[in-house]
Amino acid sequence: MSETIEFQAEARQLLQLMIHSIYSDKDVFLRELISNASDALDKLRLESYRDKDLEVDTSDLRIELEQDAEARTLTVRDNGIGMTRDEVVELIGTIAKSGTAEMLRQMRESQEAQAEDLIGQFGIGFYSSFMVADRVEMVTRKAGAAEGVHWESTGEGTYTLEPVADAPQGTAITLHLKAEDAEDSLHDYAKPDVVRRIVKRYSDFITWPIRLLSGEDEGDTDPVNSRKALWARPPSEVTDEELTEFYRHVSHDWQEPLETMRLSGEGTFEYQGLLFLPSHAPMDLFMREARRGVQLYVKRVFVMDDCEALVPEYLRFVKGVVDAADLSLNVSREILQQDRQIQAIRKRLVRKVLQTVKALQENEPEKYRTFWGELGRAFKEGLITDPDNREAILAASSFPSTHSADEDTTLTAYKERMPEGQEAIYYLTGASRSSIENSPHIEAFRAKGYEVLLLTDQVDEVWTDTVSEFDGTPMASIAKGDVDLGDEDVPEGFDDLLSWMGTELADDVKEVRLSSRLTSSPACLVGDPGDLSPMLEKMYRAMGQ
Ligand code: ADP
Ligand code: MG
Repeated sequence: MSETIEFQAEARQLLQLMIHSIYSDKDVFLRELISNASDALDKLRLESYRDKDLEVDTSDLRIELEQDAEARTLTVRDNGIGMTRDEVVELIGTIAKSGTAEMLRQMRESQEAQAEDLIGQFGIGFYSSFMVADRVEMVTRKAGAAEGVHWESTGEGTYTLEPVADAPQGTAITLHLKAEDAEDSLHDYAKPDVVRRIVKRYSDFITWPIRLLSGEDEGDTDPVNSRKALWARPPSEVTDEELTEFYRHVSHDWQEPLETMRLSGEGTFEYQGLLFLPSHAPMDLFMREARRGVQLYVKRVFVMDDCEALVPEYLRFVKGVVDAADLSLNVSREILQQDRQIQAIRKRLVRKVLQTVKALQENEPEKYRTFWGELGRAFKEGLITDPDNREAILAASSFPSTHSADEDTTLTAYKERMPEGQEAIYYLTGASRSSIENSPHIEAFRAKGYEVLLLTDQVDEVWTDTVSEFDGTPMASIAKGDVDLGDEDVPEGFDDLLSWMGTELADDVKEVRLSSRLTSSPACLVGDPGDLSPMLEKMYRAMGQ
């Protein structure tokens, strides 16, 4: 009994792009399929630890690549967790990735040539098979389930599903290779040498054995991959390209990482970590379901994705792996939150990331600019949520200021420019640089040659409320309180006017007073030191508070 089902609309559009765009590097489809197979094996091993009643054979977990030169097929097979029928519909038939709609909108607006770039930023895993195949079949059976399912599609709008009585456990994906690639000897995926080369290049570090079965040399079952955990190898032996491919595997990102970081601890707590800063903001960075991208391993064995106990939320963009020696394999997320070892590693990890960002700021301005432009807004959340590291976060941050129209400044550089007599780091928050720069509040500061930070991110409204100094120098909003600029030459004889204005405006303002902060505007509104800023007030109102 076979049924035909339509792909979800977003999935359909992405598939159209996969099928009809031209790619410079189609080989990556294999990396994606192997990466999925590896994840499926990780999940099965974990599941078998947690659920002792699960009837599965975990004695020979592996990935097989089987080629048929005559039929021109390539099959990627794993004996991992598998999928139920409903999971196939949900995971393969739809795209749940946040940001999909936004990416498709950008694609519609951009030229055909940029489709590859956009897909490159987004990454679409399984669908990349349609770069090299004009028909894809999949047979999968969920671990423990009696029956499997057969899926098939040409990628054009619909797929078919059919129950399979005797499917082996796990997933086998068969690609019916496009005829046009047969002429290109470097990209003929029915040839063993081609596939061996791609596995070495993209998937060597995969910890499960990857075996090549190609008819001719049936006896050859040595894994193609060396299976060495990258984080356990001496850094000098690991090439940049290996790091990049490993990053892509753990992050599900298709781009290169911006920076690599290593962690290691010996003694009481033994652990190793290999972490990355991405070169662009993940699509879900500011969505509620945003995930934290560090995987936890215990002695080379995968334990969990998105280990939130290891990474504070403001560093959720950090990707990679932490391998801890002394944890139980079936540790739960709740227990991890309390674990002393994990807490110690988390502390080190945070310090390492902050040091790395600071080092980029000092030594690699280009990279730092990329980091800051993409991820600075998330990073600054730490000023609110991580008081212990506040000073280090501030020091690694940078801000637009009146000093330069296009270069951000660090607070340290700001302090070095402070003229004699200036007592605080001044800032003003608002919706945009131009609206702040034209604000009457700034006039007197400009006249005195005092620099003012121009803070326009929403998060700036919040952290400036809790951070009161940097490196011994107070930070002060120029829109709040009675900012003392030192020349209190307040003219007299305005009492009647002020009290009249105070009465007239009683419903709207608390007080009317003379000010030395204006030079050309006749009046401006200021808040009390404890008040919410106008933008924050708007935000709270919008949230219904
Ligand atoms: P991603 O790996 O980024 O989630 P993919 O398009 O590569 O995206 O895969 C989508 C989902 O399909 C995976 O998250 C997984 O749940 C499921 N899946 C894909 N391949 C396999 C497989 N070999 N075994 C089990 N599940 C799989
Ligand atoms: Mg994938």
